[in-house]
Amino acid sequence: MNAHDSERLAGLLEEAGFQAQKPESALADVMVFNTCAVRENADQKLYGTLGMLAAEKLNHPTMQIAVGGCLAQKDRGEILRRAPWVDVVFGTHNVGSLPLLLERARIQRESQLEIVESLEIFPSTLPSKRDSLHSAWVSISVGCNNTCTFCIVPALRGVEKDRDKKEILDEVRALVADGVNEITLLGQNVNAYGVELGVRGAFADLLRACGEVEGLERVRFTSPHPRDFTDDVIAAMAETHNVMPHLHMPLQSGSDAILKSMRRSYRADRYLGIVEKVRDALPLASITTDIIVGFPGESEADFQQTLDLIAQAKFEMAFTFKYSKRPGTAAAEMDNQIPEDVVAERYVRLHAFTEEIAWQQKKAQVGREVEVLVSDMPGRKDDATLRQSGRARDFNLVHFVSEERLRPGDIATVTVTQAAPHHLVAENPPNAVRRTRSGDVWESAQASTETRTFLSLTPRP
Ligand code: SAH
Ligand code: SF4
Repeated sequence: MNAHDSERLAGLLEEAGFQAQKPESALADVMVFNTCAVRENADQKLYGTLGMLAAEKLNHPTMQIAVGGCLAQKDRGEILRRAPWVDVVFGTHNVGSLPLLLERARIQRESQLEIVESLEIFPSTLPSKRDSLHSAWVSISVGCNNTCTFCIVPALRGVEKDRDKKEILDEVRALVADGVNEITLLGQNVNAYGVELGVRGAFADLLRACGEVEGLERVRFTSPHPRDFTDDVIAAMAETHNVMPHLHMPLQSGSDAILKSMRRSYRADRYLGIVEKVRDALPLASITTDIIVGFPGESEADFQQTLDLIAQAKFEMAFTFKYSKRPGTAAAEMDNQIPEDVVAERYVRLHAFTEEIAWQQKKAQVGREVEVLVSDMPGRKDDATLRQSGRARDFNLVHFVSEERLRPGDIATVTVTQAAPHHLVAENPPNAVRRTRSGDVWESAQASTETRTFLSLTPRP
């Protein structure tokens, strides 16, 4: 979600007359930090980086620094107190104000702090400067109505706001017309989509509607919540030709007692039941997840239940997190916090175990023919062949060799010959290649633009 917001920030600034600066070039005139507050180490990183920039600011007094995102929404005035050389602080609900605030700070020679409490403009109506030419995020909802006791998101992003279905589909069609052939529907709880509009089954309907968009090769979504993962969503996944057989569904814990204390309203059985149904309906589906270790009160037995569930669900990949105490959340007040060394030790075991299971899953793919959507990364020349990469339909990263340079967005059918914990390898050239319009668009963009990366921004002369 943050990456998508950053594309909006970049698009807004470009529209306001700024131009992207290459990461390796000299300091930009404006630096924007889009922050995350989900875990505590993001806090520390921001203040550390701002500290380093204080000296730069002395050398380049006209340089402007802006801080936005969840941490800005959370810390507000604190950022200017700790780093008074910051020029602009803006929140999650007023992303669109950034150009104006930068201008105001420049004219008034005074730091600007603007945090609003609720969403003014749905961020998807703002211009965007995408990182990828062939793949795009499409926001379908923002905010979250759940109350998971570890999570700071609802406090910072507000209650769920759903975007109108027609607007979503218009954006999808416009993206496809622009050369995109893969979209990822985005929301804190995508399958609750429709709750604000009072429409049942709205998420499944949206998936099916995406299936009718001509030229759209692949549809993904993140993240669904097990509570709202109804059978109609599974049916829509199975029956819609371009919805990919990949489910990223956060588990958090395999222990019912911990799930209850986390206020995650499903239990281990229900989670496994969904996994089973998805595998029945989409036999080649990969399932990935998020897991938290060391939540308050987690016993060794609770932790073992998480490991057991990982083995049963056979995750293809898991993002694993050490529990991080977030201010204002219910879990932060719990008196049975787990000592750091215990969390660290369990984390090591959790990580090793998820890697092992992921590797087993990937080994089962050796010999299988998979369709790879070539990514934007340029291929590496290796003797007579090129090494290229992309994602399979089930989101596995595949490295393959090719005698010709394929274009990002093209689709190669390859046979998997090797598996590693994090990727698959195809050592023989593709069995087939399908050239797509995305590739044509990429080619013409290469011919007409020098840089497309956005990291920091500088005003046009
Ligand atoms: N809305 C999504 C998750 C958004 S946050 C969902 O509910 O599925 C992304 C992930 O960060 C979560 O799934 C969780 O695993 C992790 N996370 C959130 N808060 C955390 C905390 N306080 N400590 C550690 N991990 C956390
Ligand atoms: Fe946070 Fe839970 Fe909402 Fe996800 S569903 S954003 S974890 S409160």
